[in-house]
Amino acid sequence: MSLFSKFKNNLQKTSNFLSKNILSSFQNRKVDSKTLDELETILISADISLDVVEKLINSVRKVKSTGDNISSIVLDTLSKEIENILILREKRLLVESGEKKILIFVGVNGSGKTTTIGKIVNQLNKDKKILIGACDTFRAAAIDQLKNWADKNNSDFYTGEANQDPASVAYQAAEKFNKENYDYLIIDTAGRLSNNTNLINQLVKLKNVVNKINTNIAVETVLVLDGTNGSNMIKQVDIFGKELNVTSIIITKLDGTAKGGALISIANKYEIPISYIGLGEKAEDLINFSARNFARSILDLSE
Ligand code: GDP
Repeated sequence: MSLFSKFKNNLQKTSNFLSKNILSSFQNRKVDSKTLDELETILISADISLDVVEKLINSVRKVKSTGDNISSIVLDTLSKEIENILILREKRLLVESGEKKILIFVGVNGSGKTTTIGKIVNQLNKDKKILIGACDTFRAAAIDQLKNWADKNNSDFYTGEANQDPASVAYQAAEKFNKENYDYLIIDTAGRLSNNTNLINQLVKLKNVVNKINTNIAVETVLVLDGTNGSNMIKQVDIFGKELNVTSIIITKLDGTAKGGALISIANKYEIPISYIGLGEKAEDLINFSARNFARSILDLSE
């Protein structure tokens, strides 16, 4: 299956909603205040934030043509404007450059952190020496799941005692990474409710500890968001992003939601790159983010 088909097939819940409503709204009509109002309602209902909706409406307002193909011109105009917003955030995760890296994964429980780490490890170059540090010492299930991914992918695994301070586990994992000359250290962290300030403090501490040990190695902080939360993801970017200097965002479960438009709101609001999106549960369903593929797929357009 081509990369584009993968986007298109798995973003159908969002595209069904958007394209069906936009097509029926503009059928045999022209761009005027009535159709623009309808379009505004459709875009807002797709979890696209007001500032983005305003940009999109302004671009469609300039469409002058009338006639049979008006709806396809509107869809095309929207996809170009969306692509313009998204292209600024299209950036692969640092691991693809091949240099030694430490990745710290953060995000609330259930967002898909553990699964996403597993998928990334599965996709990484098998010649590289990989260490997974399981620092969510409060959840035995997450530790087992990571150990499983590590075993399946010929990677090493490090964890601490149950309920051990996550920062001390991260410290030990980072020491092992240094001493044993690993290429990548991938750290999973606890993700209890993000409005729990202790969690954020704990993550800041964990990050500082890791940074201290490995001063000359690039550390990425990757925020994993559950795409089915739609615009509620924004609150999480606010909470995690402010104190943790998040360097990359991954949005999961976009295959299971009609709220995929919220990704555009995040791209518009924050200058944080989006590296991957999750389009299913299998290892190959974690896909490098592509602005064009995403923009065209959610409007059910061709490649
Ligand atoms: P964590 O608590 O953040 O570590 O979340 P998990 O990795 O345990 O994931 C929670 C659930 O989401 C699991 O059942 C995963 O299989 C599922 N999941 C993760 N990513 C995706 C995705 O892209 N698509 C779908 N459909 N499910 C996903």
